[in-house]
Amino acid sequence: MDISKRIVLHFPPHVTGQPVVYRLVRDFNLNFNILKASVSPGEEGLLIMELSGAQKNYDKGIQYLTGVGVKIQSLSQDVVRDEVRCTHCGACVAICPSGAFSLEPKTRRVLFDHNKCVVCGLCVKACPPRAMRLYF
Ligand code: SF4
Ligand code: SF4
Repeated sequence: MDISKRIVLHFPPHVTGQPVVYRLVRDFNLNFNILKASVSPGEEGLLIMELSGAQKNYDKGIQYLTGVGVKIQSLSQDVVRDEVRCTHCGACVAICPSGAFSLEPKTRRVLFDHNKCVVCGLCVKACPPRAMRLYF
């Protein structure tokens, strides 16, 4: 049976230079579609992709990724903002890879477009008053 899932890959610095995604295709016969990428050799990287293929190959591919130190997050999770806690400091705006935050010029308020969120979790760590919460 073939499956297709949207996942977020967090690459530790020592893995970002390796041909990890290429091996998913070559060794596990999987297909991928990169939705967002922020990967520089030697730095922590982030890749949001749709990964598809036969279930058993998919499972082996995921095992391979975790084995080399890549952290995997499923996009079935959800991120919400606590409007009371948000101080509109703007720390999340530049960090979000999908442009889910925007600054309203007139009011200087930070708007959050939940529909654009790909649940990478970066804003959860970056938000000083912990207004962004990740739900499983
Ligand atoms: S980082 Fe947190 S407090 Fe600051 S604007 Fe974003 S959600 Fe609001
Ligand atoms: S989790 Fe936060 S940083 Fe990641 S896409 Fe959603 S709003 Fe943007």
